Amino acid sequence: MALNTFKHGIHPNYHKELTAGKKTEKAALTKKVAIPLQQHLGAPCQPIVKKGDTVVEGQKIGDANTFVTSPVHSTINGKVKEIEKYPHPSGSKVMSIIIEGDGTQRQWDSRQIGIDIDKLSIEEIKTAIREAGIVGLGGAAFPTVVKLSPPKDKKIDSVILNGCECEPFLTSDHRLMIEWPEKILWGMKLIMKSLGVSSGYIGIEENKPDAIGALENVKRSIIPDLKIIPLETKYPQGAEKMLIKAILNRKVPVGKLPMDVGVVVQNVGTAKAVYDAVKYDKPLLERVVTVSGNGINEPKNLLVRIGTSFDEVVNQCGGIKGDGEKLVIMGGPMMGISQTNLEVPVIKGTSGITVLAGDLVRPAEYQPCIKCSRCVEVCPVNLMPYRLTDYARFNEPDKFRAWGGVSCIECGCCSWTCPSNRPLVQWLRVGKLRVREAEKGSSK
Ligand code: SF4
Ligand code: SF4
Repeated sequence: MALNTFKHGIHPNYHKELTAGKKTEKAALTKKVAIPLQQHLGAPCQPIVKKGDTVVEGQKIGDANTFVTSPVHSTINGKVKEIEKYPHPSGSKVMSIIIEGDGTQRQWDSRQIGIDIDKLSIEEIKTAIREAGIVGLGGAAFPTVVKLSPPKDKKIDSVILNGCECEPFLTSDHRLMIEWPEKILWGMKLIMKSLGVSSGYIGIEENKPDAIGALENVKRSIIPDLKIIPLETKYPQGAEKMLIKAILNRKVPVGKLPMDVGVVVQNVGTAKAVYDAVKYDKPLLERVVTVSGNGINEPKNLLVRIGTSFDEVVNQCGGIKGDGEKLVIMGGPMMGISQTNLEVPVIKGTSGITVLAGDLVRPAEYQPCIKCSRCVEVCPVNLMPYRLTDYARFNEPDKFRAWGGVSCIECGCCSWTCPSNRPLVQWLRVGKLRVREAEKGSSK
């Protein structure tokens, strides 16, 4: 039987076998963390501690008085050493709180507070999620409580949990589904309750039968009506718009959001974090990070405290292999951000650290476009990448917008498939930036 999916997309080599069967290990307690005051989409936080203060694991150390923001917390017990601009995986320097640890830690799982999830009010659930600093853990890092508070005129009828994880190499969500299926489903129950929704779905690519089985096994006692939908293994099946099309056959129009078609999509890791926040009063302090690639000695899934340096995480996986050119990426190779400085900290949106070597490090040279149209054939949102990239490069934002460039989801399918090796997605990002600049200029 044909599985649900969307049109177009690609089938890259997944390389998941490097870590898919490896149980998540807890990373060693780090001696220092750097907590950026901005780790999410929206307004940055302001520090609420100062240099020299003693802080404890889970203490809120940054917040802002704005709706679209998310507080940050200390992830270790220790002392604030500095508040300064610090290297960030985005490539820029970001105001960060640097904490030196005292070598002790808290035990959160023994803190279970005797709550009855069914008796919690919607406001109590949303307050716990907001105060825990939970953001979307699939990579976009949008504050979760904002997604759970749609405007009154947007009627939400369905919640989809995203368990696709279609990026090559990454297996952090896969392991979460195998190792913590109950927590994920309790988190889903809380999310559905906070939105007043009774239709829930989990979309999982069919190459993860163990994850599908683990969730099916526990579903009956938590959300019996939940539908677990196996989807075709195809990239970018985990993109929100593709998931909604594959599961509910609804199309999110250009420039619109999932809530415009009555849907909220959350990542499976976000659901687990929601449960931990409500059940243990535990802020978002750590996340599962897949450390993989043909350039790493011992690929692993590690539970890492936010703020730990990439360097430390990579070293706990046996370090980088041998000499020769390497490419270190935050996330997967399709949509990840390449890194030049491994001092940068793991942030809430760090689903993986991928280290590529040898043939997988793409040469920088590219060739002229041969108008083969392969990029058009794979684009999941039906764009013409070769044409849009010309508008981006020659600074024609009006044409870029008129040809739908702003609806590009930056999935990288076009770059991946281009026989001329053209860095299409990078140019498309420039095109979107130029449209934003032009719009800002005309509104002045
Ligand atoms: S144009 Fe954008 S959405 Fe289309 S394939 Fe390229 S990166 Fe993906
Ligand atoms: S895939 Fe590359 S070479 Fe082919 S049309 Fe697109 S940009 Fe040109």
